[in-house]
Amino acid sequence: MGRPPKKDQFSICTQDCGARCCRYITVEIPGPRSRDDWDEMRWWLAHEGSMVSKDEDGWCLHVQTPCSHLRPDNACAIYPHHMRTCNDYDASNCEFTGPLDHEFELRSELDLAGYIERRGLKRAAPIAQAIRRAARRKPQGQTAGLVALRGLSAPG
Ligand code: SF4
Ligand code: SF4
Repeated sequence: MGRPPKKDQFSICTQDCGARCCRYITVEIPGPRSRDDWDEMRWWLAHEGSMVSKDEDGWCLHVQTPCSHLRPDNACAIYPHHMRTCNDYDASNCEFTGPLDHEFELRSELDLAGYIERRGLKRAAPIAQAIRRAARRKPQGQTAGLVALRGLSAPG
């Protein structure tokens, strides 16, 4: 029996992957230093579809939002007139072919509180405390429901 023909990149991106990298934006951000920086990060993470990650190159903010040029069949409607950012993206080392080398990912305010507490970050401690206080005031089950929706376990 012969080998099955190697799949072309277009089929991998549109069929197997479902165009994951066309469904969010990523912005490099400076590492948080001041209390205001941590508070701003809390604000980002209070919004559904946001995530903060860190890897060896630094910190990034990710926001889930599909590109307006993405076609229903997961192809790019403006190819080859798309952006350089898209053109330069390395399909041999992406979130589908990965692995992504994030040191960690924060997907909610509670993730952020857990991170601050585990690291013992004194300047950011009031932000973690405010997150915990706010979570206690929420109706029972609301926070747990959001965490479950994202397929995460609640950080301790
Ligand atoms: S480059 Fe990677 S993440 Fe983007 S569509 Fe192709 S396989 Fe998916
Ligand atoms: S311009 Fe095209 S390749 Fe770039 S993100 Fe949008 S759909 Fe994807």
